[in-house]
Amino acid sequence: MIQPVLKDEDFLADVRAANQDNDDLRLWWLGQSGFLVQFQRKHLLLDPYLSDSLTKKYAATDKSHVRMTERVVDPARLDFIDVVTSSHNHTDHLDAETLDPLLKINPRLQMIVAAANRDFVATRLRVDPSFPIGLPDGASAAVVPFRFTAVPAAHEELTPETVGFVVECGPWSIYHSGDTMLYGGMAELGRAIAAIRH
Ligand SMILES: [Zn+2]
Repeated sequence: MIQPVLKDEDFLADVRAANQDNDDLRLWWLGQSGFLVQFQRKHLLLDPYLSDSLTKKYAATDKSHVRMTERVVDPARLDFIDVVTSSHNHTDHLDAETLDPLLKINPRLQMIVAAANRDFVATRLRVDPSFPIGLPDGASAAVVPFRFTAVPAAHEELTPETVGFVVECGPWSIYHSGDTMLYGGMAELGRAIAAIRH
């Protein structure tokens, strides 16, 4: 299993120390497809999976789902998160055991999902369906200072339930692909993302 460079208290201390008033972008890989993004003292989580819920779910089967990376931090300790994304409904991208504690300790947390997944997300997290901000492909929404645009993802097929997100903040753009294979039009997508900036 991949060991994090920093975890628990050391990881949190690193995030706190980095939290400065400037336009630097800081990004921590949280294992699996999860990232923490810090910009202008605001914090975004992309597809966090900070539990062992899949290991437990598949323990009695012949399809083991052990984490690739050791957990970086208990989600109940992330009390500074402004917005979280979920690229699709697979548990390692939409994990109630991660998101429930995050919602509890971040009462103002906002969430960005594919428009097609809003009801599924609301059911899994036991929240009102109006809570997740649902984006169809090509649509954008802002949670200042971040602006999110949903882009297609082919998780094997291109479907409305699988997306990636382009996140713009200040001079920066991040492409979080979600789970996707290469697909026809991806190169044009890259050019379109570049065009957003210029
Ligand atoms: Zn997946």
